[in-house]
Amino acid sequence: MDFKNIISHCKEYGFIFQSSEIYDGLSAVYDYGPNGVELKNNIKNYWWKSMVQMHQNIVGLDAAIFMHPKTWKASGHVDAFNDPLIDNKDSKKRYRADVLIEDYIAKIEAKNDKDVQKAKKRFDDFDEAMFRSTNGRILERQKKMDEIAGRLAKAMSSGDLGDIKAQIEELEIACPVSGSKNWTDVRQFNLMFSTQLGNIAGEEDKLYLRPETAQGIFVNFLNVQKSTRQKLPFGIAQIGKAFRNEIVARQFIFRMREFEQMEMQFFVQPGSEMKWYEYWKETRMKWHQSLGTPIDKLRFHDHDNLAHYANAAVDIQFQFPFGFKELEGIHSRTDFDLTQHQELSGRKLQYFDPELNENYVPYVVETSIGCDRMFLAMLSNGLQEETVPDADGKESTRTVLKLHPQLAPSKCAVLPLLKNKEELTKAARDVYDSLKLSFNCQYDEKDAIGRRYRRQDAVGTPYCVTIDFETLEDNCVTIRDRDTLSQERVKIEDLKSLLFKKIEG
Ligand code: ATP
Repeated sequence: MDFKNIISHCKEYGFIFQSSEIYDGLSAVYDYGPNGVELKNNIKNYWWKSMVQMHQNIVGLDAAIFMHPKTWKASGHVDAFNDPLIDNKDSKKRYRADVLIEDYIAKIEAKNDKDVQKAKKRFDDFDEAMFRSTNGRILERQKKMDEIAGRLAKAMSSGDLGDIKAQIEELEIACPVSGSKNWTDVRQFNLMFSTQLGNIAGEEDKLYLRPETAQGIFVNFLNVQKSTRQKLPFGIAQIGKAFRNEIVARQFIFRMREFEQMEMQFFVQPGSEMKWYEYWKETRMKWHQSLGTPIDKLRFHDHDNLAHYANAAVDIQFQFPFGFKELEGIHSRTDFDLTQHQELSGRKLQYFDPELNENYVPYVVETSIGCDRMFLAMLSNGLQEETVPDADGKESTRTVLKLHPQLAPSKCAVLPLLKNKEELTKAARDVYDSLKLSFNCQYDEKDAIGRRYRRQDAVGTPYCVTIDFETLEDNCVTIRDRDTLSQERVKIEDLKSLLFKKIEG
């Protein structure tokens, strides 16, 4: 489904609303509606369970959003958490200069993908890897992409803003809105939001809204390690809000100014970090697949331009409606953060290793995923228009949200066949009451049964339970499966355990 339709579906079905909509909205800030908050909570629970509950050596934390301002000096964010911005003089539109170049690269890549698709159709025993490594046009484009990406990475890491502008001009990149190539110089823009503590304004009292949750974990490293008596390797997981004053935020909840991160910092012995980096890369990729995301919509993308704290970094990219983009980052952060905090605070942040009988600052491997981006990935993967057989045997189209049952806002809808037959509605309410403590369920008696099924399909409810006249005789109900449309007759007394099995898998 295209991006515009996904956005309107989100509003129509109570997933996401523009913040402060009655005042014409606040740019890049969004509110989650009744179905949205359920889906978002389910994403967070699924992540938390797989990280904290399933790993004896990973524990949780919920640190405050405000932190001592020195935190952000130590982490490098005050000095280096910048994006390069550029304005188009004619359209007056502002852009991230690096993103303009990345989008240019993506266009070349799209041409290669198109050639691959064409060739795929022509040959039965098509070998994509072979085609990509031998086809002249593809190789030529690949070389060009590598050159552009390499030069951009170099300019980004050395802060050479002049070269970024030169690249934009040499590639003749035009403003997507006006088509004009009349650009300002590139400037650095710090992404941190600031406010002040108490009522005295001044540099010393400046507070920042955290731009990542990770620092709350680093400064609590010893508190957590000592209070839980964890031994290396061990991890600390946290879910929480982060804030970034993004230069451009035009892609719905993909790039927000207030968003939520699910981060885990894994503390390891120095020298073992690459092993754990590989481990978490694979583990996180499997996590995405466990939710039914097809492998061809996911890919690894190594960073060309490493952040100031990392010695290796990879993104898990997802194929959003606007192309492959970062969904999650896995970073080997070395001992950078803990060492910096140690220096600025004057407090030791070292681990005593009983096996080696020595103290050291651990190395860290981080997994960091945006909850909102995960939400958008699940919606864009799951939302589909389908042709299905009607009750009377004809065909009709339906909009269905194929979410993994564990993520679905409601697990089950209980539907009496008719609204104005009290025996039916009473029996249906009894079934609903027997389930509501175990699952998030809905009771719906309004409209014809077909329309009620469609409403549940559109919000991703995996199972509909129908109560009909036979139910009153045999105490059985019909379960309809959202994806296969198959119907199964089961005893009411078995319903809860059956649904539990289906949902928990
Ligand atoms: P990008 O390159 O897209 O700006 P990033 O590399 O700055 O992202 P990280 O600092 O690695 O992102 O943050 C970890 C995760 O947090 C990202 O993978 C993404 O899912 C999420 N994230 C980062 N910025 C935003 C944002 N503005 N809105 C929503 N999610 C975000």
